[in-house]
Amino acid sequence: MRRHVLRHLLLGILSAVATEPFLPVDGVAQVIKSGPPMCPGVALTFDLCPVRKGTGYDQPLMDYLIKHRIPATFFMSGKWMTKHEPEVDRLLGLGFFEVGTHGEVHAHLPMHDADEQRAEILGPVKLLQEHYTHEATLFRPPYGEYNDVTVAVVNMLGLRFIQWNIESGDPDPTLSAEQILTGVTARAKPGSIIVFHANGKGKQTRQVIERLTSDILPRKGLQPMTVSELLTCTSQAHD
Ligand SMILES: [Zn+2]
Repeated sequence: MRRHVLRHLLLGILSAVATEPFLPVDGVAQVIKSGPPMCPGVALTFDLCPVRKGTGYDQPLMDYLIKHRIPATFFMSGKWMTKHEPEVDRLLGLGFFEVGTHGEVHAHLPMHDADEQRAEILGPVKLLQEHYTHEATLFRPPYGEYNDVTVAVVNMLGLRFIQWNIESGDPDPTLSAEQILTGVTARAKPGSIIVFHANGKGKQTRQVIERLTSDILPRKGLQPMTVSELLTCTSQAHD
């Protein structure tokens, strides 16, 4: 009798586990800030936050990345996408680029309740699905701001929460290209995820990326990868 009850309980637990959405073992959802520390790669990531002034598109930077086929990951906000349809099409068509999302209107997520956060996060995901038949699974919160609700909502939606471990600081107008490079160079190591902007806010971004990809990263034995490539990277870095 007791064995029967135990078996019944166990089966119940197992079937519940099998139908539950993914939950990390420690109960805390994973916020990804870097890739495997043995991988000889770094992820160059570019946020496409909406802008009030200017084109919102760093043409020289994008031309450079495309010309040299440099793997890069873009986090697009919904508001940015609606103003840049041809650019969205172009980026989605390039196999060495990866596209994730960055909220609908660039809201401060922790100031909102779960329903509002869900709407902000889901906006550009749906736009990409419905208008571009593209499944975007990577998400980065606007301003990098989040709370427990954000993490739960992102998990529930089946998205991957991508932060960074190196902030280039590229939108800061007081930083020179040299200063940005010095900071990034000192911290870049196997598995790093570096955040930049491709919406024209970073006046030095193109120059920084050019120096990084043509000189600094190769000398450190690091190659650019998309975030998904970095997260599934199994090769080993050589020192
Ligand atoms: Zn942003």
